[in-house]
Amino acid sequence: MNTRYAKSIAALERSRKTLAGGVSSNVRAGDKPFPLFFDHGAGSRLWDIDGNEYIDYVLGRGPLFLGHTYQAVIDATCKQLQRGQIYAAQHELEYELSERVSRIIPCAELVRFGISGSEAVHGALRLARAATGRQTIIKFEGQYHGWLDNILYSLAPDPGVAGDALSPATLAESNGQFSGADSHLIVLPWNNLAVLEEYLSRHGNTIAAIITEPVMCNTAVIAPQPGFLEALRTLCNGYGIVLIFDEVITGFRLSLAGAQGRFNIVPDLTIFGKAIANGMPISCLAGKEKYMGLIAAGKVGHGGTYNSIPPACAGAIANLDALEANNGEVYRTVEHTGTQLMNGIRAIGARLEVPIVVQGYGAIFYVGFPLSGEQTVYDYRSSLTMNNELYTAFVSAMVDRGVRIIPRGNWFLSAAHTEADVESSLAAVEAALTEAVV
Ligand code: PLP
Repeated sequence: MNTRYAKSIAALERSRKTLAGGVSSNVRAGDKPFPLFFDHGAGSRLWDIDGNEYIDYVLGRGPLFLGHTYQAVIDATCKQLQRGQIYAAQHELEYELSERVSRIIPCAELVRFGISGSEAVHGALRLARAATGRQTIIKFEGQYHGWLDNILYSLAPDPGVAGDALSPATLAESNGQFSGADSHLIVLPWNNLAVLEEYLSRHGNTIAAIITEPVMCNTAVIAPQPGFLEALRTLCNGYGIVLIFDEVITGFRLSLAGAQGRFNIVPDLTIFGKAIANGMPISCLAGKEKYMGLIAAGKVGHGGTYNSIPPACAGAIANLDALEANNGEVYRTVEHTGTQLMNGIRAIGARLEVPIVVQGYGAIFYVGFPLSGEQTVYDYRSSLTMNNELYTAFVSAMVDRGVRIIPRGNWFLSAAHTEADVESSLAAVEAALTEAVV
């Protein structure tokens, strides 16, 4: 028995007896060395129930852009909790928050709040179908847009059965997705404009929406090729297609106005979650009045008991206050710290002569070990050239050294991470890499 994790091992065993798989989200079951149990967090740090301390680059898988237990968010949330948890009615924090989002996000003429990104995606797809009278949605292979039936396809297909790279099959990710849920879904390769143009030249007038992460964070943090997002915008305009940016990860992280602000492309509809409230459960579906007006008019259904609960709205407002302070100072801090870390990891790879791909942005980047000499990952298929076995061993070795990362390869940064954290993390990278490679 590994005594470092003795309490977590016992807790997992106990938990599995009543909690399906011992976890509350399937992806957590894949954590390495196994799903650990955590006790508390502060800033860039997290402590497990065995008392081990970690520098955390998981950050709740994205929400904690300001770090764990950011005081102003906690204070605002607690203050509101004392006054009321849920009214299932309107309150002033709700429109204060929608006004803020609308001011910050270029396409957000109208806004609705929910709890999860998955349901906000569902709302966006429904709106696109209602507005266009068309059924078919285009998504890109390797992108994740939540766990609901009609979009949970081709996230990580086995390339042996995923069909041709240029016209991938739609592959269900889960047993039990209703048969035919993909009957109006087309999967195309990301970053390949020629394939998209060719497809649209034949079917463009039948497509309701193109949904995309503007940066493909769920596979290797792949940046859009220069001109790709611009071309998406132009093509959607030309064919009357609704352009949906799923900014659940990139929103309020890649810039205050998300990837759409960073790349200066205005989608028709957009989805936020995660970093909008630094850990409080709230998501946001927003977009142009032309589309969101259908919800406003009651023509398209949208609902939820917990939508816009006051404590989450209070937390989100306090979070946006911090993100906007000093002209977005936190973004410069995170970019600086993250870039130092990325460069440091690259330098260690070079020194140890271990080929490493490090790509992305200071605020979120990807680390992987290529099987071949190829140094960039530009779409889902090219991500399959990574040595996952080696990365998994590396993750366990990092966690053993008090640096928490996840097997997917994404590293999330927060404004709470310091240069000292970077130094300690790089020392762990060097030791873990040495251990994992031999
Ligand atoms: N869209 C993207 C890009 C995501 O990364 C996620 C979750 O990680 C979702 C949608 C679903 O969000 P949620 O987990 O809040 O349902």
